Amino acid sequence: MSETAGAAPIETQILVAGAGSTGLAAALAFARAGWRVTLAGRPPAPLPGRTVALFEASVRFLESIGALEAVKAAACPIETIRMIDDTDQLLPVPDLVMRAEEIDLPAFGYNVSNDELTAILQERARAESIEIVEAEIADYDFEGDLVAARLADGRRIEAQFVIAADGRASRARNAAGIDTKEWTYPQIALTALLRHELPHDNISTEYHTRSGPFTLVPLPACGEAENRSSLVWLMSPRDARRRLAKPRAELEYELEDHAHGKLGTMTIESDIGEFRMGGMQVSRLTAGRLALVGETCHVFPPIGAQGLNLSLRDVADLEDCLASVDLRNERELSRALLRYELQRRADIGFRTHGVDLLNRSLIIPYLPIDLIRGAGFVAMTALGPLRRAVMREGVAPHLARPRLMRGEEPREPRLRGKRPRPGAELVGAAREALALLRPGRRGAGR
Ligand SMILES: Cc1cc2nc3c(=O)[nH]c(=O)nc-3n(C[C@H](O)[C@H](O)[C@H](O)COP(=O)(O)OP(=O)(O)OC[C@H]3O[C@@H](n4cnc5c(N)ncnc54)[C@H](O)[C@@H]3O)c2cc1C
Repeated sequence: MSETAGAAPIETQILVAGAGSTGLAAALAFARAGWRVTLAGRPPAPLPGRTVALFEASVRFLESIGALEAVKAAACPIETIRMIDDTDQLLPVPDLVMRAEEIDLPAFGYNVSNDELTAILQERARAESIEIVEAEIADYDFEGDLVAARLADGRRIEAQFVIAADGRASRARNAAGIDTKEWTYPQIALTALLRHELPHDNISTEYHTRSGPFTLVPLPACGEAENRSSLVWLMSPRDARRRLAKPRAELEYELEDHAHGKLGTMTIESDIGEFRMGGMQVSRLTAGRLALVGETCHVFPPIGAQGLNLSLRDVADLEDCLASVDLRNERELSRALLRYELQRRADIGFRTHGVDLLNRSLIIPYLPIDLIRGAGFVAMTALGPLRRAVMREGVAPHLARPRLMRGEEPREPRLRGKRPRPGAELVGAAREALALLRPGRRGAGR
């Protein structure tokens, strides 16, 4: 038996399982709202050549967890999104160009390296009062009014509630008995960071090809390299193998070709990442004292940069639903979780099916589907109000407007950002002391 196995359990209110970007974001959101949070999981492995585009609602979320300035300093704004039908379909389809200024935003969002994003969130988490346990969770016991998690090193964590952010093969989800439906696409995504000759002008370009999208997303300058972008390129597994076996210079020519020479000559500056494409849906988002967030409850191909944006909406919505709940009160908790379940279903379903439909419409050459997709491009190009509605829905969906995405601050006990009135510190301290004595949600001993 290991030395830690006999030690007293770690007691907490909220256990966040999984320290990837969603888990870190969840730990920060709940800790800043005053909950006692333990984050369990090993730091995520580096993701070669991977970046993530985070849109307006996520930008507000990052602001509310105090991470926006650091992310902005490492990221490039995306001011324009251009979609180009490159399928050689029968009828010519206009390029669809969407500008953030059309919906009164300086940018749709920011593109940042995954590794830099997790490093920033880790640093923020260390600065908050979050207990970080760098170990995997081996199993769970959901009996009774506490959840017991046994760590791989033998330690135990007892929590009133578990937020499962342990990825697509979630052990927490399996232990809670939540079913999944999984499928695969005959596609691999290759990712890389690129340097190029010509400026990107903060434009993200998605070329829709018969093997899936070929997407270039702007990155900030780095040292000598003025012009940089990240690549997400979907293709068949056979093409991926062929391309990965090529000398770099040949692959770079092929990249220039796919980008129609718009960014000039290209150099691959990172390792090349390789990700198998699949999809997943879950039967439920909650069970007893557990809620799923991030890739534990939705997986789909990286088209339209939706995955982590959706995950942050899960987190912000859950924080909203649990805000005034006493976790020991089963009735209150189950009502809050029902609300979470209902609120998230539509948003998650809409994104999963939307991405699936667009992806299949590209890889299955079928004239009527080509015509419908083409008509969509024509309508969006011609009709300003439709285009603006789609843009707004893409960056800040109206169905999911949790408080942390409306630019509001955690309710209590913090007074961040507000100019303290004379004596406010004393009043704040008294409120915090009272909150600790109250048998409500913030008591440390619960
Ligand atoms: C090529 C590509 C490009 C993408 N681009 C974008 C984009 O531009 N915009 C966007 O919004 N999304 C994008 N996505 C999606 C986004 O990257 C993912 O949705 C996001 O990274 C998922 O994060 P997560 O934290 O939910 O899961 P993960 O990153 O999988 O994290 C799960 C964590 O849980 C840990 N874990 C697993 N088991 C246990 C256990 N038993 N105990 C403790 N910890 C455990 C793992 O070690 C891991 O650290 C992209 C995805 C791909 C593949």
